[in-house]
Amino acid sequence: MDNNIIEIEELIKQFSRLPGLGPKSAKRIILKLIDNKESMVKPLAKSLANVYKKITRCTNCGNLKIIEKKCFCEIESNFDKICVVENLADMWVIESANIYKGHYHILGGTLGIKDNYDNKNLLMDSLIKRIKKNSLKEVIIATSATVEGQTTAHYIEDAIKNDKIKITKLAQGLPVGGEIEQLDDGTLFSAFKNRIPVSD
Ligand SMILES: [Zn+2]
Repeated sequence: MDNNIIEIEELIKQFSRLPGLGPKSAKRIILKLIDNKESMVKPLAKSLANVYKKITRCTNCGNLKIIEKKCFCEIESNFDKICVVENLADMWVIESANIYKGHYHILGGTLGIKDNYDNKNLLMDSLIKRIKKNSLKEVIIATSATVEGQTTAHYIEDAIKNDKIKITKLAQGLPVGGEIEQLDDGTLFSAFKNRIPVSD
């Protein structure tokens, strides 16, 4: 006899797709949810529906925004720097470390080494446009110290090096292969503070 409940199986399948969760931890979470249907499933379902309905990625800067509202990147500001990161988690780490005030640009990934070298999902064109359009003084390239991160950094440098804008990247001291998201505040702080100009 088949004892499986299809709704639960489906939920396990969905949860298992989340980063850091395998089927085992997915099952544990789901049991917890089922045991607390009113206090946990209901608000969770509501939150998810709200996010689905109201939140989107800005196609200009890559940050999250409320669908019918202007993104922060479209609002006039006197920031003169822009920090380029691979993903939102990297931006959140930099923000919470309180080491930088300025614009952010979230690429949404990296250029791969070969197959996805021209990763069409990356917000690369809009980055170049933002840099050329705004009177910025500095572009801080804060991609990871991975091969893909560095390939991406070189691509950006090449695209803007004639723009008379200061290009910097985070100082050495980032562990090779290190992702920004994984860094402790101290390392991130000194990498930011001692950032180095990119020379061509
Ligand atoms: Zn935006």
